[in-house]
Amino acid sequence: MIDKIVDPNWQLPPAFHFTQSNLQDFVDCERRFYLRHIAQQRWPSPLAEPQDEVERALSRGSRFHQLVERHQRGVEMDILRESIIDDAVIGDWLDRYEAALAELGPFEQRWVEASLSTRVANKPVLAKYDFIGRKENTLVGIDWKTGRLPDVQRLQERMQTVIYLLVLFREGARLAGQEIDNFALYYVSVNDGETRHFTVNAQDAHRLATQLQGVIEEVIHARDFPLTEDIWKCKYCLYRGLCERGTSPNLNDDDISPDDFWLDFGVTVDEIEF
Ligand code: SF4
Repeated sequence: MIDKIVDPNWQLPPAFHFTQSNLQDFVDCERRFYLRHIAQQRWPSPLAEPQDEVERALSRGSRFHQLVERHQRGVEMDILRESIIDDAVIGDWLDRYEAALAELGPFEQRWVEASLSTRVANKPVLAKYDFIGRKENTLVGIDWKTGRLPDVQRLQERMQTVIYLLVLFREGARLAGQEIDNFALYYVSVNDGETRHFTVNAQDAHRLATQLQGVIEEVIHARDFPLTEDIWKCKYCLYRGLCERGTSPNLNDDDISPDDFWLDFGVTVDEIEF
């Protein structure tokens, strides 16, 4: 049967960059990659039910990241806390954020919302870090998560880890303007204070680049963009309606971390049609 959704002459949009978000979409479901990044299709399904709770969860995550960014840019924490006096959850997240930062720092140089890019398979690959800090000749990337962290193996396999480590290794010294001997990536859950820690050396970077090149070449040569066979991946996908893959699930805090689904993929609350 001819699939009328996929244009056989599809092309990547102009100025397209590969990112952890679009490559994770491809790895999770080729059809999601096609709908979102090639067809640029709006999503007809709500993320989950009840929608006001989904909205609150996404909005809270977004607010937290804004507060952290302002703090890193020099706004006093006391002032920031006054703005969230009505929200004890964000207050707890800020406590854990400060504790993690105290443990990982202090840093001699720091960059907030830093974007770095490199080329793989002759294509641009972009990584945007919540935070990068340097102490002596060690460079540390940090990603704040408001949900629970996956186990180490799952996290290691995610495109975010692959790309963040590779790009940090390749471009970190240029960013810092000095030689860097050690590279580390931390995921910090402000939900429960857990952290996951990864490092990268030259041998790892070679392996990561080969892995990434394989995925990018798969994208470039893709034709059918099949629907994933793993129905679980459809659970919180906003294209469920288009793919006839089920109705809106109930939001369950044990299941969903907005970071792991759409918030982290560049979708904001305003973009989701509740
Ligand atoms: S609903 Fe399922 S099959 Fe359809 S795009 Fe989303 S993840 Fe893929």
